[in-house]
Amino acid sequence: MSSKKVIIFSAPSGSGKTTLVKYCLDQFAKLQFSISATTRQPRGEEKHGVDYFFHTPDEFRQKIALDAFVEYEEVYTDKYYGTLKSEVERIWDLGNVVIFDVDVKGGVNLKKIFAEKALSIFIAPPSIQELENRLIKRNTDDLETIKTRVAKAEEELGYAQYFDEVIVNDDLNQAKEEIAKLVGNFIEA
Ligand code: ADP
Ligand code: 5GP
Repeated sequence: MSSKKVIIFSAPSGSGKTTLVKYCLDQFAKLQFSISATTRQPRGEEKHGVDYFFHTPDEFRQKIALDAFVEYEEVYTDKYYGTLKSEVERIWDLGNVVIFDVDVKGGVNLKKIFAEKALSIFIAPPSIQELENRLIKRNTDDLETIKTRVAKAEEELGYAQYFDEVIVNDDLNQAKEEIAKLVGNFIEA
């Protein structure tokens, strides 16, 4: 049975969360990604309705007023991100398990909201230095953005204790193996 379950992934930016979430989505057909709404600009090849629903601040405020969000956060100054109730319902209606990719505060909130229906996983980098190296190598953000994200990472690591599971993403293959085990057990339980 895997009805009405959710899996929450949170991590400091650059820890490898996107890589590991994609891996899980490839491995388990029952998992479906909850597409969040955001006020940040699309990056690289990102598309509206695929990676995010990209909105203006006014549109985002309208959704808040309409009570469209399970949770939302100002993750970076003036950059809002929110989990849409409609996404959770859409995925559950298909009989699938929801995957959330959210910031650490959002992750803690979603675990409180979904409680035993949720498995929350925190992805940690081996070190802050390695996290910075990965962000530079990824080459999708300017140096100013990278500095902001690295500065925030230290504080974010303090939230690891509130998650059901913590995975240190040092060796990627090992992290994938650990995650596949956790996710497989949870959706089959
Ligand atoms: P996040 O979604 O947490 O910001 P990404 O998945 O985009 O992180 O990963 C950041 C960068 O680090 C990407 O370029 C990715 O390919 C790389 N990466 C992910 N995991 C590892 C790992 N275990 N070792 C080395 N590089 C990694
Ligand atoms: P990025 O700009 O790198 O796509 O995302 C920045 C951060 O916002 C990441 O930690 C990502 O997980 C988080 N995020 C994405 N969607 C949501 C959401 O709906 N709610 C919350 N709280 N955070 C989100």
